[in-house]
Amino acid sequence: MKNIIKKDVIIIGAGASGMMCAIECGKRGRSVIVLDHAKKIGEKIHISGGGSCNFTNINTSYTNYLSNNPHFCKSALSRFTPEDFVALLEKHGVKYEEREHGELFCAGSSEDIIRMLEKECNGAGVNIMLNCHILSVKKEEQFMVSTNHGVFESESLVIATGGLSYPRIGASGIGYRIAKEFGLNVTELKPALVPFVFSQKDLKLFGELSGISIEAVIKCSKIEFRGNILFTHRGLSGPAILQISSYWKEGDTIVIDLLPEIDIYGILIARQLGKSKIDMHNVLSEFLPLRLAKIWCASNIQSKPVNQYNEKELKAIAHLVHNWEIKPDSTEDFKTAEVTLGGIDTDELSSKTMGSGKVKGLYFTGEVIDVTGQLGGFNLQWAWASGFVAGQYV
Ligand SMILES: Cc1cc2nc3c(=O)[nH]c(=O)nc-3n(C[C@H](O)[C@H](O)[C@H](O)COP(=O)(O)OP(=O)(O)OC[C@H]3O[C@@H](n4cnc5c(N)ncnc54)[C@H](O)[C@@H]3O)c2cc1C
Repeated sequence: MKNIIKKDVIIIGAGASGMMCAIECGKRGRSVIVLDHAKKIGEKIHISGGGSCNFTNINTSYTNYLSNNPHFCKSALSRFTPEDFVALLEKHGVKYEEREHGELFCAGSSEDIIRMLEKECNGAGVNIMLNCHILSVKKEEQFMVSTNHGVFESESLVIATGGLSYPRIGASGIGYRIAKEFGLNVTELKPALVPFVFSQKDLKLFGELSGISIEAVIKCSKIEFRGNILFTHRGLSGPAILQISSYWKEGDTIVIDLLPEIDIYGILIARQLGKSKIDMHNVLSEFLPLRLAKIWCASNIQSKPVNQYNEKELKAIAHLVHNWEIKPDSTEDFKTAEVTLGGIDTDELSSKTMGSGKVKGLYFTGEVIDVTGQLGGFNLQWAWASGFVAGQYV
């Protein structure tokens, strides 16, 4: 066969984990090429964190991840920590800032991180080939990757192709396909960190609340998150909703506490005893946006002056305010999901190296693995950490 380009390591995917892996193995003196079908490197880093890239979280722990094996991520996370990534930023003079809950963002733009990774790749002698379409991946003695730019051969192959979300910027299922072709198990794939879509009935009732955002507590499957929820023209979004979506299964009901930490029962009883003639939705609008209070009352209770309710009714209303049940029809799917839940079965991989037990020299890094972070910089931290550890062995 003519024109075979030989390298020690081929990495498919010039995203967060692929570049981190390339930098590390390049520094070890391995010859490495990164192949990507996109026109630019790091497209997901570019759009992450609303363009400011929430690149890590200083409170990262294995408990921030979902996986069939919640312990799998521990080793990599302990060997490449948020502090390690911050040290890299400081080496390059990239400015960052801490926002809520330990989330670290670029003070400038996510492009700063992309340029930093590019510089590190150059320094480590990494070749990156863009617009490179993978035609087939095979293993004989060595891995053979056929592309529109020719055939590449290597001893180690790293699949760093990310998840299925945001297909419009290059996401594809190739990583899962390659894994299956090599006989590796892939767990169920689902969109996560994704907005909910209302049922037809709820859309009619609550669709006009689009744009309203409140602080709430959301519960589902014994998990709860506190944060903002946002009514959209299709359903519900906002950080707390995205968080709970990763734990939601079709048919599940989510429970919303509209007024966390407010003793609305105590307030209603006091008003009733004071013989208040103010309508219930107006009382609730002291704590919630008026439009929401009105529509919520219209769809859940009959709004009338507070002095016309008895104690039992007020108790029931207060309970509803703290436990408002919504049964989403679905999620907005991979089109708008931030990440993919599930992936390469962690039973197939070494948690130390990210290498396959079945296929010598085959590695996976980042989101393609069945390790999914919560919202808050945890997914990129996983990408850096898994890419870093694989880079020590490939
Ligand atoms: C809108 C949005 C915002 C986000 N914000 C944050 C955030 O602020 N903080 C955070 O921690 N996480 C965030 N994430 C998640 C985070 O971006 C990903 O989890 C992370 O980038 C995964 O890294 P990765 O290296 O595994 O994959 P990716 O970064 O997705 O890289 C995969 C690469 O593989 C390439 N590829 C895919 N298919 C092929 C193919 N067939 N042939 C060749 N190349 C291919 C892609 O072009 C891409 O360059 C966000 C995600 C989205 C969608």
